[in-house]
Amino acid sequence: MRRDRKAKILATLGPASSTPEKIRQLALAGADVFRLNFSHGLQEDKKPLVEAIRALERELGRPFGILMDLQGPKLRVGRIEGGAVELTAGQFFRLDLDQAAGDATRAPLPHKEIFAAIKSGDELLIDDGKLRLRVERATPESADCVVLVGGRLSDRKGVNVPGAVLPISPLTEKDRSDLAYGLGLGVDWVALSFVQRPEDVAEARRLIGGRAALLSKIEKPAAIEHLAELVDLSDGIMVARGDLGVEMPLETVPRWQKELVRACRLAGKPVVVATQMLESMIGSPAPTRAEVSDVATAIYDGADAVMLSAESAAGRYPVEAVTTMSRIIAATERDPLYPVVVHALRPPLESTAPDAISGAAAQVAATIKAALIISYTTSGSTALRAARERPDAPILVLTAVQATARRLAILWGAHCVISEDIQSFREMAEKAGHIALAEGLAKSGDKIVITAGVPFGTPGSTNVLRIERVP
Ligand code: PGA
Ligand code: MN
Repeated sequence: MRRDRKAKILATLGPASSTPEKIRQLALAGADVFRLNFSHGLQEDKKPLVEAIRALERELGRPFGILMDLQGPKLRVGRIEGGAVELTAGQFFRLDLDQAAGDATRAPLPHKEIFAAIKSGDELLIDDGKLRLRVERATPESADCVVLVGGRLSDRKGVNVPGAVLPISPLTEKDRSDLAYGLGLGVDWVALSFVQRPEDVAEARRLIGGRAALLSKIEKPAAIEHLAELVDLSDGIMVARGDLGVEMPLETVPRWQKELVRACRLAGKPVVVATQMLESMIGSPAPTRAEVSDVATAIYDGADAVMLSAESAAGRYPVEAVTTMSRIIAATERDPLYPVVVHALRPPLESTAPDAISGAAAQVAATIKAALIISYTTSGSTALRAARERPDAPILVLTAVQATARRLAILWGAHCVISEDIQSFREMAEKAGHIALAEGLAKSGDKIVITAGVPFGTPGSTNVLRIERVP
């Protein structure tokens, strides 16, 4: 199963895509990683999905990544008398810890952490930013606000507090329970919502304990402020444009997308651009021109992967959405300008042996027009460095470690195959050639560039670059 593109597709599973047959169709259409969204459904619902994906791996003979996305804390107003109330711009409105149902003058906001963190001048956004309040006076139990943008305030609507760093862990009791459950199912990636500080990631890392890779969702201003440290502490980043577009002025989201992608490319860590990419395909078999352009832009930016949310989880056209995304990626990557644009952001090599070899491999492969770069890796770090170069040739990642192959399903340009450790140079060349042929990645006689580490099978020892021909 060779893909005709380098960037990857994450497809969220949900009611529209929960049967083994639908998951199979999504995989054949181009899904590389499946996202299980723990904001919806029960824990037990996720188990058959994981089983179906693993069965598919056996059937298709290729690894898929499974990403569990933790809900994180959801801040909400409490109940409103009669279900809803109309707020008008200019009026005063109070939010407080009082449990009594809300009315035209006040509503309960049962989160003392918010009152502890806000100050006068901060803005509170309700219902995905549809309503806006400005805090005039805050106490530990209440906030007197003026309504900036009015509208209908109904029961249990979500609240965002973009200005403040809230003293809340991104891992609620539910998240901790979900995480334990998901790790038990053997997920490959854990996505962490509501990240604000480096400590948040460190805590999640401790709980995960190396059993999965960690993807930090960047969706809050505080996270953007700590971007460098968060990239450093995470295995990958998601540009979570849904919440980011509520927490930051919407018109700045494209700029943050570019900056986050660039930061990850510098660090050599996978970056996923997410949310509303083909939104109209939830109900329509064809996307809008603007959506097509948005997916292409993420690819020109150099993202490792693009993600489908409701399009594949709850829409009417989940398979068509994956097919459409795959076509847009492939067409964008065929543009002669694409490598020029992506290489313009090529990060400098670090002065390490793996970087020297990865940089040389990309250059040698381009010079001799090699069909493939082959990366023998154990931990996956050599493959990450190879992809960081964004070489013209695809990267065939050969690893004996199943978890590595599955994690790298998210990585730009990586075609992962599980294969036993090599013992000798002869075996290194033979195995690479045979697998390249079997996977349909090269033809007999094609040149290939191989990187590996000697002594063979020692993690972090990349020090060999070799040119071979496919037998
Ligand atoms: P969510 O994350 O859909 O889980 O909120 C993605 C986003 O905020 O864009
Ligand atoms: Mn979000």
